[in-house]
Amino acid sequence: MTTARTRRPFALATAVAGLVLVAGAACAQATDHDPGIELSASSAPRAAAGSPTSVITVSIDAFNPRALRLLGPSGAPTLHRLIDQGASTLNARTEYEMTVTLPNHTGMVTGRRIEASSGGHGVTWNDDRLSPTTVDAAAGHHVVSLFSVLDEHGLGTALFASKTKFSLWQRSWPTAFDKVDITEGNGSLVRHLIADLATPRSYRFLHLSAPDVAGHAHGFMSKPYLKAIRQTDRRLGKVVAAIDADPALRKSTVLMVTADHGGKGASHEMPTVFANYRVPFIVRGPGVPTGADLYDLNPTYRDPGRSRPTYAGPQPIRNGDVANLVTSLFGLPSVSGSELDAAQDLRVYGS
Ligand SMILES: [Zn+2]
Repeated sequence: MTTARTRRPFALATAVAGLVLVAGAACAQATDHDPGIELSASSAPRAAAGSPTSVITVSIDAFNPRALRLLGPSGAPTLHRLIDQGASTLNARTEYEMTVTLPNHTGMVTGRRIEASSGGHGVTWNDDRLSPTTVDAAAGHHVVSLFSVLDEHGLGTALFASKTKFSLWQRSWPTAFDKVDITEGNGSLVRHLIADLATPRSYRFLHLSAPDVAGHAHGFMSKPYLKAIRQTDRRLGKVVAAIDADPALRKSTVLMVTADHGGKGASHEMPTVFANYRVPFIVRGPGVPTGADLYDLNPTYRDPGRSRPTYAGPQPIRNGDVANLVTSLFGLPSVSGSELDAAQDLRVYGS
């Protein structure tokens, strides 16, 4: 056992470029890692057969799925293609309590509700404030993230975010990221991510802000907003094209697309408004059935119709399911302390 933890090649590296150590992670790892978790090749957890070795989550800020119908396949060809090629629903839900960016994204990567007093992550603000400094401080209890779980198991992670407030995550889980790129220009950010695909890395989280920015300036579902969705679709298309152009990546990568919230009219902040709390959840990758409805694949989850279910009773598919869907795709345990899909029973493969 070495004192500094080194990255193991694990599966991604073999899928992409043979045995490559992910650089930059041999720094001292603080903290809450279990003693003795140092992985050897033989003890590394194995993903289930057919599991991916690369996962990319794309969150399109303020993506109201109604935009897809208005734009049609010609206006949003990538998103339509991902739906055709994968399993999806346009009727997933946000967190129950709030429909704003930072609280909902923090739910995605922790698998927790928002309300701290009932075990949530406690991030209720949506700006660049530096206090509370961390998610732990916001929650009043320790909050583990998806990134931390992957990191503990030797998997490389990267965050590509287009709003500076995401630096909260870096402060909260400072050793869990191999790369953090916060670039407001969405086109540049996408180029950075595509360039990064050459680096063996298990997980990437990409946040694209353009629809939200256009929505706040001109109204959600307005013409400029729809134009931003169209533009985001084109950018996403470049990511998909980069994956598909590389046979190794294509057969090893699961791409999922969701949103922090929707929006209609001047704002998206009322959590009781359908257009705000309904979000898409689209998964495409090897083994994921084509053209499938996620609710058909998951009878234990309930399509909520137009309702806004609480966390009690049968659950809709939520954007907060991202965390444990990702851990389960890699064959890893659920995020400690998480609630959403904590049983890791959200299925994206056929039976
Ligand atoms: Zn917003």
